[in-house]
Amino acid sequence: GRAWHLVRRPQGWPVPEDFALREAPVPAPAEGRVLVRNLYFSVDPYMRGRMNDVKSYTPPFALDEPMTGGAIGQVVASEAEGFAEGDYVLHFAGWREYASVPAQHATKVDPDAAPLSAYLGVLGMTGLTAYAGLLRVAAFKEGDAVFVSGAAGAVGSEVGQIAKLKGASRVIGSAGSDEKVAWLVDELGFDAAFNYKNGPVAEQLKQAAPDGIDVYFDNVGAEHLEAAISRANVHARFAICGMIAQYNVTEPPAAPRNLAQVIGKRIRLEGMLVQDHADLQGEFVKEVSAWVRDGSLKYRETFADGIDNGVEAFLGLLRGENTGKMIVDLA
Ligand code: NDP
Repeated sequence: GRAWHLVRRPQGWPVPEDFALREAPVPAPAEGRVLVRNLYFSVDPYMRGRMNDVKSYTPPFALDEPMTGGAIGQVVASEAEGFAEGDYVLHFAGWREYASVPAQHATKVDPDAAPLSAYLGVLGMTGLTAYAGLLRVAAFKEGDAVFVSGAAGAVGSEVGQIAKLKGASRVIGSAGSDEKVAWLVDELGFDAAFNYKNGPVAEQLKQAAPDGIDVYFDNVGAEHLEAAISRANVHARFAICGMIAQYNVTEPPAAPRNLAQVIGKRIRLEGMLVQDHADLQGEFVKEVSAWVRDGSLKYRETFADGIDNGVEAFLGLLRGENTGKMIVDLA
């Protein structure tokens, strides 16, 4: 089986030479473990942080070892109670064709309840991030006007739709292309959206949110965060989920330059990590899967074909080539 290794720590934007696809023997079945053939693996923005050798909430990737991340696979051999050949499992040994996974790190998923890839996105980690970030961290309530950046991505597209379904007075999104903006408004039911590449975020947000915003779900940081602070109503709540605008920069951005407004407006900014919200998993899957089934919540996935394209998929994600969840399809 082949696996992607990090072979050099990227400086600024990662390049293909920072990675290598290497052959390794398929692991032998072992007591308490399942041998899995991966069908899909996830590429995610947070992986960029793991490529740096710095202390963080997830340890850095080791050089010259397979990278890790969310994956869905099929059990080809089991030496663990409760798992049988043919079962589908969600686990964390992505970026490779075959994985030997300790049973306690594998979760069975039902291929009849949803397409398997959905367990990496709309019903998976990014979905829970959207659900918990909006409803718990930002303490969303009916009637709030919500602004979400990175709105055509996996997390953002779900945030905006959950807000609508829960009675937001207005949902505004920003994204990096006119096609994405059209998708948000025409298909996902956002009230307004704009392409942040078409002009200053502050001006475009002002037009899109004439009555201000009560919630900001931040996936981007920098100029977007500054614009959201300027547009925030008194007692607005900000869920700080990601700051992708600065993941590949070598100098930190100057924005937001207006943080002092947080005082007068009594804005609450709260950083979030999805792993703190595992207790919402059951409620989240129940509510969102019902919306997916009845068509009131839509989702898109962007697939890269084959393990060879794994790194290109990750680089494409950083460049905004995805709409919805970016997934590598190994099948
Ligand atoms: P997305 O599906 O949103 O993909 C990333 C998107 O970011 C791209 O499609 C691109 O879209 C956009 N982007 C890239 N560079 C920039 C930039 N300079 N300015 C604005 N937008 C940019 O990924 P996810 O949904 O998986 O993640 C979204 C955010 O949530 C990330 O910041 C991620 O780190 C964070 N996150 C945080 C978690 C947590 O626990 N805190 C958990 C999961 C995700 P475009 O074309 O619009 O530019």
